[in-house]
Amino acid sequence: MDIRLHNTLTREKQAFSPQNPLRVTMYVCGPTVYSYAHIGNARPPVAFDVLFRLLRLKYGAEHVVYAANITDVDDKIIAASAATGQPIAELTAHFERKYREDIGALGVIEPNVRPHATEHIQGMIEIISELVAKGHAYAGQHGVLFHVPSMADYGKLSGRNRDEMVAGARVEVDAGKRDPADFALWKAAKPAEPKEARWDSPWGEGRPGWHIECSAMAKAVLGETIDIHAGGLDLIFPHHENEIAQSECAHGKPMARYWLHNGFLSMDAEKMSKSLGNVKLIHDLLKLYSGETMRLALMSAHYRQPLDWTEALLTQSKATLDRLYNALRRMKDVEPADTGAPQGVLSALCDDLNTPLALAELSALASEANKSGVQDWPQIKGQMLAAGALLGLLQHDPDDWARGDAADARRIDAAVAARMAARKAKDFAEADRIRKELAAEGIEIMDGAHGSTWRRL
Ligand SMILES: [Zn+2]
Repeated sequence: MDIRLHNTLTREKQAFSPQNPLRVTMYVCGPTVYSYAHIGNARPPVAFDVLFRLLRLKYGAEHVVYAANITDVDDKIIAASAATGQPIAELTAHFERKYREDIGALGVIEPNVRPHATEHIQGMIEIISELVAKGHAYAGQHGVLFHVPSMADYGKLSGRNRDEMVAGARVEVDAGKRDPADFALWKAAKPAEPKEARWDSPWGEGRPGWHIECSAMAKAVLGETIDIHAGGLDLIFPHHENEIAQSECAHGKPMARYWLHNGFLSMDAEKMSKSLGNVKLIHDLLKLYSGETMRLALMSAHYRQPLDWTEALLTQSKATLDRLYNALRRMKDVEPADTGAPQGVLSALCDDLNTPLALAELSALASEANKSGVQDWPQIKGQMLAAGALLGLLQHDPDDWARGDAADARRIDAAVAARMAARKAKDFAEADRIRKELAAEGIEIMDGAHGSTWRRL
């Protein structure tokens, strides 16, 4: 079955055909690791994890190379290290580990390669030297700059006009700029900056600009032209536009053949409950919801569309999973048939990763299981599990899933009872502590005439 993907570069859905079906390459821009990741940061890894799984199914796991980088040198990292006194390498290693744990909990398969910016400084210097030699870049007062007017088709990805480009480059004000749209390739070290954040180069000590990192890492681990380059909508300009400028002017060939961009997660304060309104880190959300519930919530809208992140969405996603797992529990003594993923789920995903439709198809299978006789169960169960594997869902034992809920309810019942006992004993400090602890998990205690009950907010 043909995979069709919306290509930002051509602004249309196109049949995907890799340069080499034996080595399909994909690069997704990864996080800058200086703090815990926001739930919005989880959308690209989850959306493109579905694509990774689909490509592996179509071309064979050994024929797909997926790289997602770690940005471990950056102004924000230097600032965080200065503020906390923690050495840069320690700080970035810590938050990289946390990031991998967080997205791992969301069922994201580890990419084949995780290049780190600091391991590719030499490759960046080589590309910059090439750009200088070809007249696309020049050394300015504070480092090396890419000269935007030197590239005839600069702006082709974003379709931005000249004024917008200049506005986009305004953050990189440099007295030595030849053109206001020029952007930094190499930033000369400032005296106060730590030595772990500076490297020798033909232009003196300094560090790379952000955009050059991805050009160098994509080239080093995947090649000069890659099949798919993806990331969030906010990266189209200037980040991806500048990656294209650097790579294409240095190598004289397209950087990537298909550019994919996911829409934003919107966290509208009015639609958020108080309890969830303050919880935006994956790390904290995982205390309230299972990773699989959040993954399903993230896949509930098409990846290019905006998604409203609300408590209702999470409650609904949890209910959907409960229903799917219940169907699997009913069929638990049945050996699944080796069916492969059902056609409906496959064609939905092949059509530019239509996850909402794929999820509807999966839910329909659960309905079918509930309606049909035992003789149909091996087939239905096989299809549900294969669809789950493709979507990164139904990865738990159905009994564990059900027990997880029950065990959690028992734990909360016990805490509520302990609070009642504390109140009776007039230990109000303890009663209050328990109430606050549950509130932090999003659980509200309701006191009534006949005792206390609780509910999840
Ligand atoms: Zn990038």
